[in-house]
Amino acid sequence: MINEAVDLLQRYIRLNTSNPPGNEYLAVDFFTSIFKEAGIECKTYEPKPGRISIRAEIQGAGLQGPLILLHHIDVIAADKKDWSFDPFSGDIINGHICGRGALDTKSLGIMQLLAFLAIKKNGLKPSRNLVFLATADEESGADCGVDHLLRDYPHEFNADLVLNEGSYVVSGLLPNKLIAMISPGEKGPCWLRLKRKGLPGHGSTPHGHNPLEQLTKAVNRLLSYEPPVVITPIAGEYFKRLATDWDFLKPYAVDGKPETLIKIIRDNDLLSMPQINAMVRNTISLNSLQSGARVNVIPSYAEAEVDIRLLPGQNMEEFMVLVKKHLSDDLIRIEPISQYEGNASDMNTESYRLIEMVLQEHYPDAITAPYLMLGTSDSRFFRDRGVTAYGFCPAVIPAEDLKSIHGNDERISIESMVTGTEIYKDIVRRLCI
Ligand SMILES: [Zn+2]
Repeated sequence: MINEAVDLLQRYIRLNTSNPPGNEYLAVDFFTSIFKEAGIECKTYEPKPGRISIRAEIQGAGLQGPLILLHHIDVIAADKKDWSFDPFSGDIINGHICGRGALDTKSLGIMQLLAFLAIKKNGLKPSRNLVFLATADEESGADCGVDHLLRDYPHEFNADLVLNEGSYVVSGLLPNKLIAMISPGEKGPCWLRLKRKGLPGHGSTPHGHNPLEQLTKAVNRLLSYEPPVVITPIAGEYFKRLATDWDFLKPYAVDGKPETLIKIIRDNDLLSMPQINAMVRNTISLNSLQSGARVNVIPSYAEAEVDIRLLPGQNMEEFMVLVKKHLSDDLIRIEPISQYEGNASDMNTESYRLIEMVLQEHYPDAITAPYLMLGTSDSRFFRDRGVTAYGFCPAVIPAEDLKSIHGNDERISIESMVTGTEIYKDIVRRLCI
């Protein structure tokens, strides 16, 4: 007999919720019928046709504030010709459930669903209200998703704790051990469009007012700025945990001084590893440059888009002053595309310790560690309201497979899905006692 978690994930993947357009209603119909069968009431929110989020709740005893299990329904588009299997077939190939969303983040959604239903089935009143929340539009800013829900229905989403996406139990990162990560925070995007006007003219007669030349020089000045290494509490704890496996980190584990860690990071050339570099520094990436159409015409306008990511604790306004200083060109108009400060929840809570303890029980040989998300998730909207939000998925994923998130050939092994579901149930049950 096919495992329930596997079967549900296959069915969920087959619903094409690529964003755009999203079509999240497909998944909302799917969840509604499951809740109906289980005798659980649910409510839907539809700010635009087809862009729906769904919320279901089990009433608890009110001994603790509500717990929200959050995941997003929408997925990144997948082009069939770049994949070695149909991204929306949900087929099982070589022991893996295959398709878009298998990792980001339909597997987590099904784990949460089954943990939620298990609380209902066991019949005991949980200590707190338990909310299942599947939302639209995470992949393009949450305007039709969490941002909208918290803006227009703030009282329906009060919570003490939100569990969301963020990290996994990863194999292949450490030589002989798993690393089970929980993400209490994420970097903040500071996406900028830089606009520069200039004088058009004939390419044979350069006049010094070419906006494309001026803009590229300014952007190069910005790119040559080297942001300092900053040890956030999350990164500090992450490296402390790794020190049990990486001997060269031991001096930092002993004295706990940020300057010791910074020296180790520099001496061992860890900044050459993009993931580590981004975990301890603000980053700047020039990702788009547009101007001119002909080889012999000086353009009148040039535009660049820069993706800056700031660590939690960094001040956006201060960083913008620094950006202007390095561009050092008053004729550049800076237009924010999206700006959100880095954000983090306290790791020093009972819930965090409990999640970590359960992960450690199920994976006794793993190292547990906090992880700073380099991208964004919907957790930021809750953290903005002072709600604690942690991101994790208790399934083992090979480091290699993480590339398939927003990439090609996304998949999760049956074993990871089944085990992950059981661990998720355990965590939710213990958070609701
Ligand atoms: Zn996601």
